[in-house]
Amino acid sequence: MESKGPHILLIEDEPDVRESYLSMLNILGYDADTAENGMDGLQKIMAKNYDIVITDLNMPVMNGLETLTRIKKKAPQIEVIVMTGYATIDNAISAMKQGAFDYITKPVSIEHVKIVLSKCHQQIEAHRENKKLRDLNTRLSELNELKDKFITITTHELRTPLAVLKGYYELIEMQIDRNSDPDLDEYMGIMSGTIQEMIDMLDSMHDLSNFDKAIREYKNTEFDTNSILEAVHKEFKVLFSQRNIAFDLNPENEPAIVNADPALLKRAIRELTQNALKFTDENGKVILHLKKIPLKNKVFIMIEDTGIGIPAHKIDLIFEPFYEVQDVMYHSSSKTGFMGGGIGVGLSLVREILSTCSGEIAVESTPGKGSTFTIMLPVSQ
Ligand code: ADP
Repeated sequence: MESKGPHILLIEDEPDVRESYLSMLNILGYDADTAENGMDGLQKIMAKNYDIVITDLNMPVMNGLETLTRIKKKAPQIEVIVMTGYATIDNAISAMKQGAFDYITKPVSIEHVKIVLSKCHQQIEAHRENKKLRDLNTRLSELNELKDKFITITTHELRTPLAVLKGYYELIEMQIDRNSDPDLDEYMGIMSGTIQEMIDMLDSMHDLSNFDKAIREYKNTEFDTNSILEAVHKEFKVLFSQRNIAFDLNPENEPAIVNADPALLKRAIRELTQNALKFTDENGKVILHLKKIPLKNKVFIMIEDTGIGIPAHKIDLIFEPFYEVQDVMYHSSSKTGFMGGGIGVGLSLVREILSTCSGEIAVESTPGKGSTFTIMLPVSQ
């Protein structure tokens, strides 16, 4: 019969018994090498890779327990199955305590050997798969670090020529009278808008690599979401008033406690508030609501705007990284018009943040009328 895979070494001092066990293993489809005693077995293990060692416990030169201990020391990945008579079953128990996978009682039954070897083979495969996953994980972490490094270096390298460009632009602006020619004024406006757009994109990229680290190391704790909403409201008030957009806070009267990473949740609310600011025209209105819904045992954080809205068929797409609803022409004008700056990752970050605290997000939107983004978090008791 063809070999089933694991490399087996059979250690048995009695030649006849050894031969009969070897034939049994072959009948079961396993290929095996043999050794006459523990010492011989250890030498063979050093010379070739084995997955399973089946060893007698009662042997001259070096007994089975000693052989087991030495194998586990030299090659801990090898699974050891011990064989012993009923009379010396205590030895088998000691062997299990010292790391043996299982024991087989002598005289051995082919059915029992088949079951034990099959279990052992499965365990070896499971360990192998685990190791593969662990290696893959290490590789992914390395690649992630490389990506972070790449972003850091790229943003740093691009920042220098941009700073030069910005410097010379400002020098020219000081030396000419923009208002003397409407065309010149327009061109200068486009130039400064574009330079700012590139600076904002670099900031977003830099921010993105910092975010990756923060999300890997998130720490959840219990806190009142009222405090975070108040903080975001305070931060953004000036920006909204600069654009002549009403910005209200509608807090919850009682504490709305959740279990999340406060810095990350704040980041999520800031992203949504920034979008509301970006995609709402002057004279519009944005409201931050906080509601405790006892029936659902949830805290709802809602960011409602009267902005441009999102077409229904695009709503699912906006959570994909780098997706932006507006086409390039519209978006580039919107970037200056709606205070610019995104690269289409804000909402994917929000979704990633919510996955760390069993949160969800829902959107209701009507083009031309406005959008409401709702974060739903479980109430922490
Ligand atoms: P960014 O804002 O950087 O483009 P986001 O991931 O935050 O990226 O948003 C993706 C897209 O979803 C935006 O480009 C915009 O088209 C749309 N969007 C998000 N929030 C709003 C909103 N409040 N109103 C209208 N459109 C929005």
